[in-house]
Amino acid sequence: MDRDVELATLTSLLDLDEFEVMESSRDRREKVRRLTLVPKAIVGLCPHCHGVTDERHVCHDRVIADLPMGGQRVELVVRLSQFHCPACDKFFTPHFAALAEGAHATERLLERLAELASHSDVATAARFFGIPEKTAEGWYYQYLERKRKGSAPHLQPVRSLGIDELSLKKDTGNSAAC
Ligand SMILES: [Zn+2]
Repeated sequence: MDRDVELATLTSLLDLDEFEVMESSRDRREKVRRLTLVPKAIVGLCPHCHGVTDERHVCHDRVIADLPMGGQRVELVVRLSQFHCPACDKFFTPHFAALAEGAHATERLLERLAELASHSDVATAARFFGIPEKTAEGWYYQYLERKRKGSAPHLQPVRSLGIDELSLKKDTGNSAAC
């Protein structure tokens, strides 16, 4: 199959609207499929001054676990980027609804993990998804806590994301990209 067609097919199968598949590899022995994703958005809305910018810098890769595909675990290597806003000279990281806050997992994986755990237990759910038990436990309790507080990303007003970005930036200093 033509490579572009294959990647477009994978993008559509993956069904994460915010991302596009750039690379795909399979480790048959480990039963893992690795997909490298880039965000589709080429412009960002500055959370500080609400201006629009297209100055995007690729920062670092983040490995994210997703739902299994075709009997294989799926690892997403997400090329995260930062935007620079020329109007107020600040950097910001765009937020993605599909990626769970504070976990190296997609939101939909955590939803299924929590659903499965509610019928049995976290250890069983972890085994099902091929995730280490301790990791799954951490994600599960964080997920429940987030739900309890009603702060799932899609329920959160955009304004508060700006505040989160600001507090994140305090740790790294505001001037340097990544
Ligand atoms: Zn700005």
